[in-house]
Amino acid sequence: MPQSLMNEIVPEIQWNIPPIVKLSDPLFEKNDVELSMLRLDKIHPIVSGNKIFKLLYFLQEAEKSADRSIVTFGGAYSNHLAATAFACKELKIKSVGIVRGEKPKVLSATLLFCLQNEMKLEFISRSSYSKKNEDFFLKDLQNRYNDPVVIPEGGFSVKGMKGASLIAEYFNDKNFTHVCLPVGTATTFAGLVNGNKTKTEILGFSVLKNFNDLEKRFDELDVRVNKKYSLIGDYHFGGYAKRTHELISFMQNFHEQYKIALDFVYTAKMMFGVFDLVHKNYFPAGSKILCIHTGGLQGNSSLESD
Ligand SMILES: *Cc1c(COP(=O)(O)O)cnc(C)c1O
Repeated sequence: MPQSLMNEIVPEIQWNIPPIVKLSDPLFEKNDVELSMLRLDKIHPIVSGNKIFKLLYFLQEAEKSADRSIVTFGGAYSNHLAATAFACKELKIKSVGIVRGEKPKVLSATLLFCLQNEMKLEFISRSSYSKKNEDFFLKDLQNRYNDPVVIPEGGFSVKGMKGASLIAEYFNDKNFTHVCLPVGTATTFAGLVNGNKTKTEILGFSVLKNFNDLEKRFDELDVRVNKKYSLIGDYHFGGYAKRTHELISFMQNFHEQYKIALDFVYTAKMMFGVFDLVHKNYFPAGSKILCIHTGGLQGNSSLESD
């Protein structure tokens, strides 16, 4: 279980075992499919979801480093920045967040959360931000901060992928025919595909429009593909963090029916897609489908502000 590794690397935080819950609906019965959800949103009240898995090996590296500091990147609503800030505070690791765009007059709830968790925020222009993976940029960071552990945006890295692959241990022995998850940087998707030794097909639901460089991403992350996977690109609702009334009302109905909150950037788009594919008979009769609730609920705070 990743639980033991998490308790070993991050004993300062109390982790819950994420439950797998069954969702029922007359449609599922009619089409003879079973649908369950792995509630990664339940592993911790504050740093829920997939982000902590991607961070695990970076936290381990920072704990062993001389300066015990982490620098990472994100936008104003980044679940990754929030999770990094919280985990670092608990582990007494210094954290710096490089934020995309000039400092706004009013900080988002996410950025306020980062500050409360003692993350230092540095705002940089969008054009500088786009150069964040270049050598000169990284050298400058190493100089200005005392040789910190640098985590790429969204944890997109081999280390992040390996951490994410631990998620599979929660369901590997459960005989699901399909495992569904939302895809942003594809680090988590890569981790599950790389770690998959079963017959399960992994379905990634892209939350970005025109997401067409998956092969390149898998290459960069050194993914060894042994088993079947598919990327589903039809449920981005206009692009990253875009939403429609249809999506928001789906989220509300889902919450009413199952008492499970979804976020509009990731998990709602995936679940909308899964329900739609069940409708369209994409899944053969007898399918046992697992959807991964990857968390992200802190991002919903931006819904209240507009
Ligand atoms: C970041 C995030 C994802 C996407 O994960 P990637 O590894 O970047 O693809 C999915 N769901 C939620 C809730 C997230 O916060």
